[in-house]
Amino acid sequence: MSRNLILFGPPGVGKGTQGARLAREYGLLVIAMGDLLREEVRNETALGVKAKAFMDAGELVPDEVVVGMIESRITADHASGGFILDGFPRNVRQAEALARMLEKHELTIDRVIFMQADESVLVERLTGRLICSSCGFGFHRHYSPPKIEGRCDHCNGELYQRDDDREDVISSRLQVYDEQTSPLLEYYSALDSFRSVDAVGDIDEIYARLQAALD
Ligand code: AMP
Repeated sequence: MSRNLILFGPPGVGKGTQGARLAREYGLLVIAMGDLLREEVRNETALGVKAKAFMDAGELVPDEVVVGMIESRITADHASGGFILDGFPRNVRQAEALARMLEKHELTIDRVIFMQADESVLVERLTGRLICSSCGFGFHRHYSPPKIEGRCDHCNGELYQRDDDREDVISSRLQVYDEQTSPLLEYYSALDSFRSVDAVGDIDEIYARLQAALD
């Protein structure tokens, strides 16, 4: 069974949703860079204050900030059963820094999974996305609405829309993805561990495709 995974693909492709499910089923630790950064912003740490302006504009936070956050996470005890990197690396420089770190700690990545969907699908998913402020579970206004409006089905927490899921910021994020993150396809696609998964359609079918990609 594959243990250390990288999930990459454009914003809104479902890395968070599907990654959480894979993590539950296979006992893996999710290391989601966006979540780590949002926590720093919420706690108003120096790092969070620095990152916020970039995040609000839909731009990438500087490499030295995010690279510095990864090493302790992939080498932590609770990551030893396997981890899923979601949202990192997001450009080739970060991928190179990750490769150096993995080598230093004698770690390997068993699967690099690229999730893909057309831009129209991504925009629809992002603009309707609602997240539980308490447990982080994701809903969608139309495709998977909560049973009670504004409340999480699982923990009754309050649902919110991410600041950067507004249409103007979404277009910047998609542009940043095209310019800076999509070159990772060329960087990773030559590896034996590389798999590409169609992330359009029913959520369970997409999950089944991901499971197949892990075998
Ligand atoms: P996400 O939750 O993955 O959509 O990330 C939200 C925002 O956090 C992004 O738009 C970036 O501003 C920032 N971010 C997340 N991961 C990275 C990364 N690997 N490098 C730089 N910025 C990042």
